[in-house]
Amino acid sequence: MDQNESGKRCLRVGITGGIGSGKTTACRIFEALGVPVYDADFWAKWLIVNAPGIKSAIVSLFGPEAYCPDGSYNRSYVAAIVFKDAAKLALLNAAVHPAVEQHSRDWHQRQADAGRPYTLKEAALLVENGSYRQLDKLIVVTAPEQLRMQRVMQRDGLSEAAVRARMRQQLPQEQKDAAADYLIHNDGRSSLVQQVWHIHQKLVALAYSDF
Ligand code: ATP
Repeated sequence: MDQNESGKRCLRVGITGGIGSGKTTACRIFEALGVPVYDADFWAKWLIVNAPGIKSAIVSLFGPEAYCPDGSYNRSYVAAIVFKDAAKLALLNAAVHPAVEQHSRDWHQRQADAGRPYTLKEAALLVENGSYRQLDKLIVVTAPEQLRMQRVMQRDGLSEAAVRARMRQQLPQEQKDAAADYLIHNDGRSSLVQQVWHIHQKLVALAYSDF
């Protein structure tokens, strides 16, 4: 939580969920309500290319081949190494996550100064890496596995086996649900817009309530 210049608080709220649960879709609705959303996966990719400290850490871990001659990140090269080497994956995460955390805090402070009652940090692995504990509240978007599977196969043109392999890299949806302060059921039966609106009202009321 941060305060803006007039002493009002601005909550840091995380939003996560299993692959294909509908995090991005829910975030588009929050944005339509004027809520600023920090896309942690986008900014992590941006920082890997643009933050000199992260670049040098990655080169010292994986060698100069980690970047292509045009300066872009050689994701497939690094992914092939960390897929087989959990220790290197942990070191890669240790190089990237603190920088994303700092970048998102700076971004949040600017939103607090602009008088926003809360911001959202959207990330796939907030529960897995424990970073949700540094946030004021956590929203988890949840949907049955079969529906998530169908949505991702359709969206990305992937096989069922490929989606399952991605799902295995994440905690089961139920374990994410257990960490939630607010759950959004994106099961195609309950209205997403209504659920987002209710949570939005609660968060605004919380931000404006007395300490
Ligand atoms: P990922 O973890 O892969 O980034 P995500 O959790 O951000 O996924 P979305 O991209 O929001 O999920 O949704 C996955 C797909 O399902 C998208 O194509 C989206 O348009 C579709 N989708 C999400 N929610 C609904 C819904 N309620 N009704 C119909 N389609 C939906």
